[in-house]
Amino acid sequence: PTEWQSVPLAPPDSIFQLTAAYKEDTFEKKINLGVGAYRDDNSKPWVLPVVKEATRILLNDETLDHEYLPITGLPEFTAAAAKLILGADSPAIADGRVSSVQTISGTGANHLGALFLSRFYQWGPSEKQVFLSNPTWANHQAIFKNVGIPPVDYPYYDPKTVGLDFNGFVESLKSAPERSVFLLHACAHNPTGVDPTPEQWAIIADVMLEKQHFAFLDCAYQGFASGDLDNDARAVRYFVQKGVSLLICQSFAKNAGLYGERVGALHIVSTSKEAAARVKSQLSVLQRSEISNPPSHGARIVSLILNSPDLFEMWKRDIATMAHRIIDMRKELFRLLTEELHTPGNWDHIVKQIGMFSFTGITPKQSKALIDEHHIYLTGNGRISMAGLNTHNIQYFAASLDSVVR
Ligand code: PLP
Repeated sequence: PTEWQSVPLAPPDSIFQLTAAYKEDTFEKKINLGVGAYRDDNSKPWVLPVVKEATRILLNDETLDHEYLPITGLPEFTAAAAKLILGADSPAIADGRVSSVQTISGTGANHLGALFLSRFYQWGPSEKQVFLSNPTWANHQAIFKNVGIPPVDYPYYDPKTVGLDFNGFVESLKSAPERSVFLLHACAHNPTGVDPTPEQWAIIADVMLEKQHFAFLDCAYQGFASGDLDNDARAVRYFVQKGVSLLICQSFAKNAGLYGERVGALHIVSTSKEAAARVKSQLSVLQRSEISNPPSHGARIVSLILNSPDLFEMWKRDIATMAHRIIDMRKELFRLLTEELHTPGNWDHIVKQIGMFSFTGITPKQSKALIDEHHIYLTGNGRISMAGLNTHNIQYFAASLDSVVR
């Protein structure tokens, strides 16, 4: 039995490794700031009340069965999901120019979008490559490599300002070959929490139009960033309105707390109804060979929420609860560091950044000291999940951060 002798042992996923180390730690005040999932004020996962209500309705629905969904997913889910991200009054939807497919959450949308581009994108003068922000969600690299599209970096995060390297970003949009593909985080950039301002988005859109670049918009946090679904969709809607060529990857993992249910969608916006029909037919062929049919349960939950006015209102309140708890933690951490502890350095970025993650700007050595000396688990790049902080542990975290940066 020598057949797998040449298979090298892969390293464990670093985030999952971090969680395992946290679980083993017996220190009472330990904190897990690595995990990319919402936690309530008692560090517990939160099943949204609206999801409980939708689940109850589904359980009592005698008409439901476990038949296969259509290849491209539950139609009432994909239609409502497109309206959610593009706006109910979107001319692109009214014109029938949007091809929407249900996917295995945001990861599946990224994969299907990348696969579609690898087969059908007219690269023009650009080589087959995708520009990814430096840094980005680590899975982006792997997803594009898997479909034979090599990733290249564009400047994004500036460690000097703990903010956006806007000039570097725009320069790279300008110097890239025409028709290049740029992956953009639609809101709440992971891992930095640093987003362009509306004025900066407008400039980015202008350059993309001028260079005929393609925007691969990854939207994993709609509503989660600001607490407002429309606000967090602003950049996407602006790009569509301006006519930038694009697709959108949409996830309901974070904003509906449906991580394990894998509910997502891919939306490709075309210039005509006919093109959209051709695109959708090819997405259907690709999807068929990969997963045959997407899973039904999570899509039914989200469909019910999006299509029932009462549940939709309830969802908006739940989203605001999560987003505002996180925003409150940012404010409190900032207050503790600046007013109580007088921690050296500038901490404005803590309140300026948006979404679940914050790049603290601390060094890998300081991150390691937080783990080794204070039992606070975070990634080596200094990224913390704000969702891991709560009224019970934030004092301890602020004091620990203060001590490692002094
Ligand atoms: N894209 C980004 C930028 C993310 O941060 C995530 C999740 O962490 C995803 C996509 C996809 O997540 P999921 O597949 O759970 O929807």
